[in-house]
Amino acid sequence: MKHVFWFIVGSQFLYGEETLKIVDSRAREMAAYLSDVLPYPVEYKVTAKTNREITDTVREANYDTSCAGLITWCHTFSPSKMWIDGLRDLQKPWCHFATQYNVEIPNEDIDMDFMNLNQAAHGDREHGFIGARLRKPRKVIAGHWKDSRVHKRLADWMKAAVGVSVSKNMKVMRFGDNMREVAVTEGDKVEAQIKLGWQVNTWAVGDLVKEMDKVTEEQIDALVKEYESSYDVATDNTAAIRYQAKEEIAIKTMMDREGCMAFSNTFQDLYGMEQLPGLASQHLMSLGYGYGGEGDWKVSAMTAIMKAMGEGGNGSSAFMEDYTYHLVEGQEYSLGAHMLEVCPSLASGKPRIETHHLGIGMNEKDPARLVFEGKEGKAIVASLIDMGGRLRLIVQDIECVKPIMPMPNLPVARVMWRAMPDLLTGVECWITAGGAHHTVLSYDVTAEMMRDFANMLDIEFVHISKDTTPSSLEDELFIKDLAWKLR
Ligand code: MN
Repeated sequence: MKHVFWFIVGSQFLYGEETLKIVDSRAREMAAYLSDVLPYPVEYKVTAKTNREITDTVREANYDTSCAGLITWCHTFSPSKMWIDGLRDLQKPWCHFATQYNVEIPNEDIDMDFMNLNQAAHGDREHGFIGARLRKPRKVIAGHWKDSRVHKRLADWMKAAVGVSVSKNMKVMRFGDNMREVAVTEGDKVEAQIKLGWQVNTWAVGDLVKEMDKVTEEQIDALVKEYESSYDVATDNTAAIRYQAKEEIAIKTMMDREGCMAFSNTFQDLYGMEQLPGLASQHLMSLGYGYGGEGDWKVSAMTAIMKAMGEGGNGSSAFMEDYTYHLVEGQEYSLGAHMLEVCPSLASGKPRIETHHLGIGMNEKDPARLVFEGKEGKAIVASLIDMGGRLRLIVQDIECVKPIMPMPNLPVARVMWRAMPDLLTGVECWITAGGAHHTVLSYDVTAEMMRDFANMLDIEFVHISKDTTPSSLEDELFIKDLAWKLR
């Protein structure tokens, strides 16, 4: 899917034709420059001088599927009453880019003509007022358009907006229901579609088994070759690897046929299948598909969205589960893994294909899976929960480390991290906020990007960072609960 951002520059007729010509040519120059340094193209659309120009452009943006968001800036003063109708209609993410053409005030040359042409400092305040007055969600980014710090912030905002675009087109394929009796993986699918645009529907496991029966030996040969080129094969059980390939091809065929970018399944419903998809799900995730275990469709869709928000449009984000802690004083860590399904985009080295017995579920044979250690580095974990009446997105900053022990008998991929502000306080905060055991762990999506994503979609956002304390978080949650109930 193509993503483009539209650039609209505010002005008015007051300054005359000459000034407007300069504004127009500079806007063109800036859009071209920004397109080169940002991850997505910036298309200059119009120097807006009338209500009509603004409403027409906004309506076009709303209907254009490739338009992922609007960037506005006021080169000169642009009276904001003429923006009201357009901004009220706007359905795409909006960034108010408070920049100006020149870096320096030209000491010798500055005169009243210069002041009239370059008055973003007050033009952007008029523009900011109307955004605030309309209570319109928007991102304000200030700085010079050639400043690399500004590029980083614009790039991150763009990626959040791309996440919104992917979200609005998200279709999730569910095989089986949620795991019996589990609460946190449940949720209101109607609310999710209203707020996030997700179409979450179910397909029979029996239909997947039928699709598996249609997979040919040649198709399996080709996929196994792909496995062998990406991973080290550390098992003699080729039948198990081939069975996973067959599962992957069948799942992918069904998802692609329906336009689904995410799927979920559960070990409690494998009727007619010999094994839970392990390697199959892991390889699908490496291709950008979302996955959630135990029927967790929320984490599945979020995995696909956060992958799309990451570097190159398929970044280092993965379905994750907090499993167990190392609580030795001074070296407190969380150990994350899943029964099988951890995305190899987290791997620090080349993953190994191994086969092991899986005691949970109705696995007649030992499923093949990728085993590896996660990378070191700063990351986040994100969890979307249904609070009843609204969705809450919880994001926690974490620091991933090389696992401090080899754990040679652990038959799954593993990631080890320290939650912020420290493991125990971080756990207290996470539990207080109601965060799930399932998360999306990401190395290249930041908390700020997730905050922007939540603002764009109008859902609650909770960030647990190095500065969070359990008491400040309790107060924040209490206030937010009241605020959201009033809406
Ligand atoms: Mn799980």
